[in-house]
Amino acid sequence: MAQLIDGKQIAGEIRQELAKEIASFKEKSSKVPGLAVVLVGDDPASQVYVSMKGKACNEVGIYSEEHRLPANTSQEELLNLIDDLNANERIHGILVQLPLPKGLDEKEVLHRIDPKKDVDGFHPVNVGKLVIGEEDCFVACTPLGVLELVKRQGVDISGKKVVVIGRSNIVGKPVAHLFLKENATVTICHSRTQSIMEETKTADILIAAVGRPELVKGDWVKSGAIVIDVGINRVDGKLVGDVDFEEASAKASAITPVPGGVGPMTIAMLLKNTVTSFKRFNGIDE
Ligand code: NAD
Repeated sequence: MAQLIDGKQIAGEIRQELAKEIASFKEKSSKVPGLAVVLVGDDPASQVYVSMKGKACNEVGIYSEEHRLPANTSQEELLNLIDDLNANERIHGILVQLPLPKGLDEKEVLHRIDPKKDVDGFHPVNVGKLVIGEEDCFVACTPLGVLELVKRQGVDISGKKVVVIGRSNIVGKPVAHLFLKENATVTICHSRTQSIMEETKTADILIAAVGRPELVKGDWVKSGAIVIDVGINRVDGKLVGDVDFEEASAKASAITPVPGGVGPMTIAMLLKNTVTSFKRFNGIDE
């Protein structure tokens, strides 16, 4: 039976580490990292996410601002707010909660964020820096959380075979690049991949980011593999991942549950990116 990778506990440890670091910044300079979260419209799920992010900031000592704008906000008003936040010295991270209401140009808004404050890691400058291996970039929070979970398993990633299922800009592609940077041999599978199981069966580390409930069955998993399930799917009111947990945990050496695996890591990495941004702005070693 596989070992359970407890993302909730690991995220808690990371938050504690960050809280200590932030307390020491405050003691030395009386300055703390600041995060601005922008929410346009009244999408209920987005409201929950934004509140969770604000609460998480408070717990570790990050200054946070919530900017809640009505759904009829114009593109110009939103861009003006981004410009103000880019210039605001108290703010080190800017996050625009997606999706934006219809009629707003998401791409233009995300591209307006100063890449140095883009703690979500979606700006093309940061994506490009990740791909060419420059260190001073921000990487999207969920992929960062996946890497952190694997690293904390104590495995040597270098030379390992990693198979990622999914090629989205938010998860699949950045996670593949992160593991490539760690010298893994990476294969990306997607909806057009032929004989997907033949690929996944070779993986030492299998990462599923598909959005299809329990797609990955036990016979897709190599014996002893580490399985990271990014998927969050609601089935009959219950959350399930992209991996058939029962079957896969009989084969894997370690596996993340859903919920309580990758999910809690995403916010922890957002906090970490905000702290990293603060350090860069203040010339503190990372
Ligand atoms: P997406 O829909 O943008 O991308 C899904 C990818 O899966 C696509 O690249 C597609 O080619 C591939 N795919 C679809 N069907 C497939 C199939 N049958 N076989 C192989 N590949 C297939 O989704 P996303 O934004 O990358 O999210 C993926 C999952 O991760 C979703 O369940 C989402 O809710 C979850 N997610 C979780 C977190 C978190 O914090 N834990 C964050 C982001 C996304």
